[in-house]
Amino acid sequence: MIEVDTIAGMRAQVAGARREGQTVGFVPTMGYLHEGHLTLIRRAREESGLVVVSIFVNPTQFGPGEDFEAYPRDLERDAALAEGAGTDVLFYPPVREMYPDGYATYVTVEGMTAKLCGASRPTHFRGVTTVVAKLFHIVEPDLAFFGEKDHQQLLVIKRMVTDLNLKVTVVGVPTVREPDGLAMSSRNVYLNGSQRAAAVVLSRSLAAAREAFAAGERDPAGLAALVRRMIEAEPLAAVDYVEIYSWPDLADIGRLDRPVLLAVAVRFGRTRLIDNTVLR
Ligand code: AMP
Repeated sequence: MIEVDTIAGMRAQVAGARREGQTVGFVPTMGYLHEGHLTLIRRAREESGLVVVSIFVNPTQFGPGEDFEAYPRDLERDAALAEGAGTDVLFYPPVREMYPDGYATYVTVEGMTAKLCGASRPTHFRGVTTVVAKLFHIVEPDLAFFGEKDHQQLLVIKRMVTDLNLKVTVVGVPTVREPDGLAMSSRNVYLNGSQRAAAVVLSRSLAAAREAFAAGERDPAGLAALVRRMIEAEPLAAVDYVEIYSWPDLADIGRLDRPVLLAVAVRFGRTRLIDNTVLR
């Protein structure tokens, strides 16, 4: 595995692979890698000649007072894990490489970014689409792999790629979970023991919603209320949102008569966790 921290170095690696006619697969991350990230990397390994992984804690997608400084970082451990999962090039630019003095350009997807996580984190997706657009221009991947754990992000990236006529194919990868159902996340390390035990309520409430849907529930408000009741019954959990929108366009719906995304965000102390399921 080759490690590079400059844009020029990254471009040189891809240029070499391109001359050899290799397919380039790309997995953007913020590091502190876990089995979810490694599943994306393995998938990229299966489908690409050159596997590029980026590690960049992107300041523009954190709001004021959020956890940019505190976000867990361990480059040495990440490098070993990334290499073990089949990474060829690890790209970890410093912030000033991506956002030099005078930086002033942002990419914004409108509409669907105002909902769900965009409502509680108003500048978040602007930061995500900006950094992903930049990374796509630097790496020029054929394939890019994103987790369904961040389902709104996946849909927003797909929208950006379509709208800006980017040549990359975006591949969504199912959420990887702990044995008790908690979606793996770098932020899970913030949870203390009792919060970690309580956090299972996210996946349990979504499972209950899937059961109710399978049993014939077709009222989105009823389904959302069921999920909210379950989460609110957990004393350590504070609901940020429980919402249902059509999938994949995230439009408002009156009945569950087409595929929908049921998504939740819940706080445990200062830690905010998200999870989702698609009902069809
Ligand atoms: P992050 O480092 O949290 O920004 O995540 C980088 C990529 O890994 C994103 O595409 C995430 O959706 C994906 N990812 C994070 N956690 C998981 C998970 N538990 N299962 C699948 N993909 C994940």
